[in-house]
Amino acid sequence: MNNLNSNTPFDVETIRKDFPILSRTVNGKPLIYLDNAATSQTPQQVIDVIVDYYSNYNSNIHRGVHTLSQEATDKYEGARHTIQKHFNAAHAHEIIFTSGTTHSINLVANGFASFLNENDTILVSALEHHSNIVPWQMLCEKTKATLKVIPMTSEGALDMAAYDDLLLLNPKLVFVNHISNALGTINPIEEMIQKAHSVGAAILVDGAQACPHIKPDVQALDVDFYVTSGHKMCGPTGVGMLYAKESWLHKLPPYQGGGEMISEVTFEKTTYAGLPHKFEAGTPNICGGIAFGAAIDYMNSIGFDAIAAYEHELLEYATEKLNAIEGMQIYGPKTDKTSVISFNIEGVHAYDLGTIVDKLGIAIRTGQHCAQPIMDFFKVSGTARASFCFYNTKEEVDTFVAGVKKAAMMLR
Ligand SMILES: *Cc1c(COP(=O)(O)O)cnc(C)c1O
Repeated sequence: MNNLNSNTPFDVETIRKDFPILSRTVNGKPLIYLDNAATSQTPQQVIDVIVDYYSNYNSNIHRGVHTLSQEATDKYEGARHTIQKHFNAAHAHEIIFTSGTTHSINLVANGFASFLNENDTILVSALEHHSNIVPWQMLCEKTKATLKVIPMTSEGALDMAAYDDLLLLNPKLVFVNHISNALGTINPIEEMIQKAHSVGAAILVDGAQACPHIKPDVQALDVDFYVTSGHKMCGPTGVGMLYAKESWLHKLPPYQGGGEMISEVTFEKTTYAGLPHKFEAGTPNICGGIAFGAAIDYMNSIGFDAIAAYEHELLEYATEKLNAIEGMQIYGPKTDKTSVISFNIEGVHAYDLGTIVDKLGIAIRTGQHCAQPIMDFFKVSGTARASFCFYNTKEEVDTFVAGVKKAAMMLR
């Protein structure tokens, strides 16, 4: 593992050795993985934790008196503490394990059904992933509350003057992503949280795209709900978290009923377990939770300042090289963004571009990126998206840009 401080140059070659997948080939070429905004790769340190779990102490948690169950419980609750510390939550029981961001948002949206009626308004940003839109539309269908959209500017940032106006409607809840997966836009969530609270609204921040790059402090942000997925930050799929202030977790009803989330069950009446178990019905993704904790440890061993600085370098380098290609259009803001480049080339369909560069071993994403409203805003059917992680290199960027040039020549 790497221990870097701000004076040592970023040792990407050593870091790459932690990721076995990066040494495979695709279509006879070395893999260049630039689809990190969809999911990140998994370091050996996390793979080892997964293998160790199933090799040595696989068992159900919180209910067994036997040794394996104790070991699994200790590791799982240990991971919860790691996550609590990482996000600086006040209590470990404010961290609810979920299957990921989508599950976390649905849990909160479902709970708000008991707080809203036809006189209420809730605000969504125009920059959202479908998973931070659809659950709220379903909630509005159920409660007859009104969903209003905070518009975006042509630069791909949120229109903050319009947000101020919408807050005059006294919304009950605001939800916004910390960073847009489609454009890389970093939203001014500090200001948005403070303004939401000034009109008495609660606010949920979707951190799925932020947590691979920065380390949020939920207490300093004073955010009501913060959600993320493990698989975008070097962890496995199928696990994520909901952070919520303790007071909200007491107010919200449970999402699913079942084992583990109860205190007493009779056919007359069931009482619910305390936090966090009230929201964790059934056998959870035990191994996934433990591995999520290990992924956070891994990322902290590299350091988020070092990660952000290096990824910014990659972003600037790639942006400059891509902009030199004729007919290139990059969407989204020029500053205040993370290492995501969403683009089109005049006369070239993004899907065809993605298919050709795949032949060269390069993985990029093409399409709507689960954010159709953003594509509609720019009047495009989709974009090509390259998203960089701290294990990518400038040499990979060079090969990628050469591939894009070659594809554009073939397709125009
Ligand atoms: C990936 C992503 C999601 C969805 O995460 P899942 O892990 O698929 O639940 C939501 N919002 C943003 C901004 C994302 O990048």
